[in-house]
Amino acid sequence: MAPTAPATDEALAELLAEAKTLQPKTIALRRRLHRRPEQGLQLPGTQAAILHALEGLPLEIHRGTTTSSVTAVLRGNKPGPAVLLRGDMDALPLHEDTGDDFASEIPGTMHACGHDTHVAMLASAARLLSTHTDELAGSVVFMFQPGEEGYSGARYMVDEGVLDAAGERVRTAFGIHVDAGSPSGITAVRAGTLMASADSFTVRLTGRSGHGAMPHTALDPVPAAAEMVGALQTMVTRRVDIADPAVVTVGRIAAGTTSNIIPETAELEGTIRAVSEPTRRLLQQQLETVCSGIAAAHDCEITIEFGTGYPVTVTDPDVTDRVAQWAGKLLGEDHVLRLPTPIMGAEDFSYVLREVPGTFAFLGACPPGNDPAQAAPNHSNRVHYDEAALPRGVAMHAAFALHELR
Ligand SMILES: [Zn+2]
Ligand SMILES: [Zn+2]
Repeated sequence: MAPTAPATDEALAELLAEAKTLQPKTIALRRRLHRRPEQGLQLPGTQAAILHALEGLPLEIHRGTTTSSVTAVLRGNKPGPAVLLRGDMDALPLHEDTGDDFASEIPGTMHACGHDTHVAMLASAARLLSTHTDELAGSVVFMFQPGEEGYSGARYMVDEGVLDAAGERVRTAFGIHVDAGSPSGITAVRAGTLMASADSFTVRLTGRSGHGAMPHTALDPVPAAAEMVGALQTMVTRRVDIADPAVVTVGRIAAGTTSNIIPETAELEGTIRAVSEPTRRLLQQQLETVCSGIAAAHDCEITIEFGTGYPVTVTDPDVTDRVAQWAGKLLGEDHVLRLPTPIMGAEDFSYVLREVPGTFAFLGACPPGNDPAQAAPNHSNRVHYDEAALPRGVAMHAAFALHELR
């Protein structure tokens, strides 16, 4: 064990102090991205901002070929394995109403999930770690990833070889997500299942159109669709182990044109969340059984399509324990929480954690003076993230690399 590794409280305190000195750069990059948010897998402006922020650092930089990702590798001065740090880059399709003076200048696009802060924290971590290469026994891969919000950007980067960017498979991986619904600076981790899978479904019912006054002469798909909405909720409570939670939500239901016409078709769309792969498969099978049975009872034809989304996010218990231990020293024991239950949201960092052991931390960023329970949450048009929390994220990225590579 190298004596310079941040095992001691003093070394960790120093790391946080160094992260704080980088705060002007962290904030400048964050606000630059916040003003000019981009969505999806092609984010040329964001990519350019990242490349600019990394200029002059001793990094090997590769741009993605299928997406506008950036992969940067920092070599320690001592030999050793590689680890990966990840920040996602993309914004969401909504109009910003925060009133901030660095608010989005792109109508209909906003960094409402805080991925601008993720990029800024990761870029500052690269800068910080660049001054610590004497203490690094191995390499750090910085994964700047587009397309987290439903575009599977992490999967594209895994397919392009980000896990082997240092010349060998990374040994462990780490990511951070800001959370506007937690007090600023509080970090939360969980060993094992952290976040849910997210699949979608579309059910199309076809009956026979007719006059609203004479429904017996038609085949009405509307009551069949209505039955399905209720029956799917009963299905979750009767078929799924309550200790292995699941959610089925019908988010869209559409049929008809006016009050006195029985429409020919009806359509339901929804999302399916599970925290284990067996339950994930069970829900699809049961949804098919329930909806097909109801359609048959109404003499309607049915088609069901599933959209396969992100897998369950599962962290490695050993890596998570190590992070919780040094995070307690870095941030204060009262600033590190162990989540008692998984979160039913989904993350495409799951594609990384499916391949290599690692963990993922939530960093509270609710602005001081706001009640976290009442504050606008992630994905809100009014969400605010406390920039004072960002040095903690920068220091955590750096501490992860220094701790894993000592
Ligand atoms: Zn999001
Ligand atoms: Zn997010």
